[in-house]
Amino acid sequence: MITAVKGTQDLFAPEILRWQKLETAARNLFERYGFGEIRTPLLEHTELFVRGIGDETDIVTKEMYTFPDRKGRSLTLRPENTAGVMRALVEHRLCDSSAHSRLYYIGPQFRYERPQKGRYRQFHQIGAEVIGDASPGSDAETIALAADLLSASDILGPVVQLNSVGCPKCRPSYVGLLRGALLERRAELCGDCQRRLEANPLRVLDCKVPSCQPILDEAPRLDEGLCEECHAHHEKVKELLGLLGVSFQLKPRLVRGLDYYVRTVFEITSSALGAQDALLGGGRYDGLLKQIGGPDAPGFGWALGVERLLMAMPPVPEERLGRTYIAWSGEGTYARALSLARDLRARGLAVIMEHSERSFKSSLKRADRLNVRWALLLGEDELKAEKFTLKDLQTGEQEALPAGELAARILNGGAS
Ligand code: AMP
Repeated sequence: MITAVKGTQDLFAPEILRWQKLETAARNLFERYGFGEIRTPLLEHTELFVRGIGDETDIVTKEMYTFPDRKGRSLTLRPENTAGVMRALVEHRLCDSSAHSRLYYIGPQFRYERPQKGRYRQFHQIGAEVIGDASPGSDAETIALAADLLSASDILGPVVQLNSVGCPKCRPSYVGLLRGALLERRAELCGDCQRRLEANPLRVLDCKVPSCQPILDEAPRLDEGLCEECHAHHEKVKELLGLLGVSFQLKPRLVRGLDYYVRTVFEITSSALGAQDALLGGGRYDGLLKQIGGPDAPGFGWALGVERLLMAMPPVPEERLGRTYIAWSGEGTYARALSLARDLRARGLAVIMEHSERSFKSSLKRADRLNVRWALLLGEDELKAEKFTLKDLQTGEQEALPAGELAARILNGGAS
């Protein structure tokens, strides 16, 4: 048997209905914040991620699906979507276009990670990008949008965690301080941290290994090494989040896994998740557009993990689908069922019918299995009387109605 690739998933009903609901809620919310959709290719040149994400990041060093195409060019299945969005804006000269300054995407991403609960090799993200606005208000508003999406999803125990990673002006001196402090205790750090200490010391702060925690707790704090501008920016973001009613926790060791962040970084975690508790993460990436060959324009964005959000959402009571199943049996009923189905569909209803005759008993059993809400019974008697029996499979109630009243009754949701 050929199986799905490890770390990827097939999606079916009823689970897929939760995905569709979430995607619709997200689209509606983005619309309310004035965001437009962007779709970029799943495949990009490898160089984009090396330059955009950073060649020392975990994603680039060990998690990318990279392969040569038939002409030997190195391509990569996108591990995240921000770099692709920026590439598209630069390529189509849209970096200064106000019509493209607030974008959202929904789609699959690929990372070669060890699959476990909440961690897949193909996973899906919903993300937001705001281009061209360097103000702290842009950070706060975009974080509020993320918080709104989570509250619209009724997720359990969401917490916004906030930090500032400074800027190219103040970060180097902090990193020097950090490296110096950690070098003194190098031998006590885990192997990964020892390696990161050389290549990317900031990432050491992010380590989850228990034995590293006391050392990191005592290390110099990022928020104490900020320059005046970064400090003021951070204070303003906090103030505006308060104004917008978004509660948050300060997390001075939050650095996030990508190199492109400056100033604000944030994550939203959920107490409903286990070890992989991050639902969403993002921050300010002012140098990114320039890094990939565009203008020096600021940006802010976040990405939400769809699988994780769905895991953190409370279970919804199973509902029947608002569809109608036409059960027909007897002389002349097939032709009538066909035209009735067409009429009802034209009025916006979802209708299912079979094309071979079966008993009403077997039809009703099938309607039940299809999990539809309505069964419409059409036998010779109904045909003669021009009244059809509409059965609500949720309540068990039924009534006889002329064809012209069926659609309105179904759309109203049941007996009046
Ligand atoms: P990142 O781009 O790493 O900041 O990830 C943003 C969000 O995507 C995370 O908070 C997760 O919810 C989700 N995510 C990242 N990697 C994976 C993965 N391998 N499997 C499932 N979800 C993921």
